[in-house]
Amino acid sequence: MLRLLMNPPAGYEGFSDIHTKITRNYTVNLHRSRYEVIESMLLEQQSICTSLKQLSREQGNEQIANACSVVGAYISFLLNYSRYWTRLHAQQYRASWDKLQDTIDDLSFILRFTGEEIQSHFQLQLFREHLSKLEALYPFTVFASSEFLNLKETCSICGRSPFEKECTHLPGELYWGEVAHTIVEKCELLSVAMVRNPMDKRCVVQATEKQTRGEAEQFPMVHYFAKHLRPLYKFEVEETTETKPVSFFKDVGVNEQCPCGSGEKYKKCCKLKGFVTRPHVIFRSKGVFNITCQDRLVLGEQ
Ligand SMILES: [Zn+2]
Ligand SMILES: [Zn+2]
Repeated sequence: MLRLLMNPPAGYEGFSDIHTKITRNYTVNLHRSRYEVIESMLLEQQSICTSLKQLSREQGNEQIANACSVVGAYISFLLNYSRYWTRLHAQQYRASWDKLQDTIDDLSFILRFTGEEIQSHFQLQLFREHLSKLEALYPFTVFASSEFLNLKETCSICGRSPFEKECTHLPGELYWGEVAHTIVEKCELLSVAMVRNPMDKRCVVQATEKQTRGEAEQFPMVHYFAKHLRPLYKFEVEETTETKPVSFFKDVGVNEQCPCGSGEKYKKCCKLKGFVTRPHVIFRSKGVFNITCQDRLVLGEQ
């Protein structure tokens, strides 16, 4: 459905304008950290997309109305990825996690409604992998997941109970540009579980002692990444170890934790050995994403 951006039907040329605006402005401004410029440019395109959806409804074209939802999700996806970087640069790493989840949700929605050809044109699958790699930089491994017993549900499209046979709407499908979902009117909480792969990764579980530390210390990998790489860079992470002589750790007090990560006091651990072997992460940059499918990328100074 993103095809509409390249080949809009007659009367909907506004889609080409959206595409041109995004192509000309997004990558360039993202690389120059001009987040406000991106924010206002994309919000403007978002409202143009909303008026095109309105037009398609008036003209009785459900297919275009549905395509407008996917284009809207694409704009939202670009917006959330830019907001993600705003948080990274502000060192708000905990908050950046939620923005990353918003970006992933938008992309999952787009992927469901686009064919392989368009996915590869916009590099969407590669970008999905990029977002997974970003997720892996965070120390979150356990999440809280709650289970509810739904007592009363209604369909967001027709307002009936999804169990009535008059309701033909399937949750997650598009109808006249709106996604059908089940609205839970009444429910009971059954349980809260700690899981590794929840549907929603926003409820993270973290040790309270960790939360008193600064964000850079709580999220060392994210901190390093944010300082050394830029938006839309493809990267690989290689986890290895490095060994340094104790003279390298002059600032570490003998009663502090050993830099090797054993949890022992420095004086009882590697200080005796004369060298410290500690975890080491290597980031390798592998070029830049061409997410808005520009022919030529205009980048700022490297
Ligand atoms: Zn319904
Ligand atoms: Zn040690």
